Amino acid sequence: MKFVRFSVNNETLAGVLTDQTIKVISGNIFSKWEYTDLTYNLGEVKLLAPLEPKHIIGIGANFVTKVEDLPAELPSIPVFFFKPTTSVIGPHDEIVIPEGIDEVKFESELAIVIGKEAKQVSEDDVLDYVFGYTIGNDVTASQFFHEAGHWTVGKAFDTFTPLGPVIETELDPLNVRVEAYLNGVEKQNSGTELMIVPIKKMISYLTNVMTLQPGDVILTGSPVGAEMVGEGNVIECEIKEIGNLKNTFVKVKKNVNAY
Ligand code: MG
Repeated sequence: MKFVRFSVNNETLAGVLTDQTIKVISGNIFSKWEYTDLTYNLGEVKLLAPLEPKHIIGIGANFVTKVEDLPAELPSIPVFFFKPTTSVIGPHDEIVIPEGIDEVKFESELAIVIGKEAKQVSEDDVLDYVFGYTIGNDVTASQFFHEAGHWTVGKAFDTFTPLGPVIETELDPLNVRVEAYLNGVEKQNSGTELMIVPIKKMISYLTNVMTLQPGDVILTGSPVGAEMVGEGNVIECEIKEIGNLKNTFVKVKKNVNAY
């Protein structure tokens, strides 16, 4: 099932997408929802990010180029970071390159959407707590990484987390390819078997640190091939079973002072 959020006639609605038709739903997708009588054609609405995340957690440097490069031992403390929910944008929205720099990096990623409160869950059970999957672009301005190793600022600018186009609930996350096309040219294309910290281990680890909640989004890391790009470039992050998340990079329009 493919869940969407969209705006039409100045209203924000949620629905279930089948082919080109959206059946509008009411309620909360994580608890109780039902169909209304309303339907829209996909072409007459503007898709938004498919959820308003509760938290956004990313994992750093999580892909190798080939299976033989996978480390024998996993890192004892994986590199996790948070992104602010205010960095979320939807399909076709513009990614704004911050004042003072000319390029930022795209990172196409499989994004996990948690559906049930999860605390200390074993690897075997962890997928039962997943609501579905979407695509995330973990846009990054490494120029703003602090020399002491902190990534927060470089990951946190407004527009730095495109999500969408749908939440797909029927997906085998262990068997998808994470792709990116820059101006139509393939830049990333890796299967999830190339993740250093695999998905089940990643979620289980997190549930042993913090209680995950419905609406939490986990960005599972980006395949080898991400690049720095400037204004005017068009990035399409793609996972065939979910869809295509397309955004354009623009320069910041007005002068904003950080301090
Ligand atoms: Mg990333």
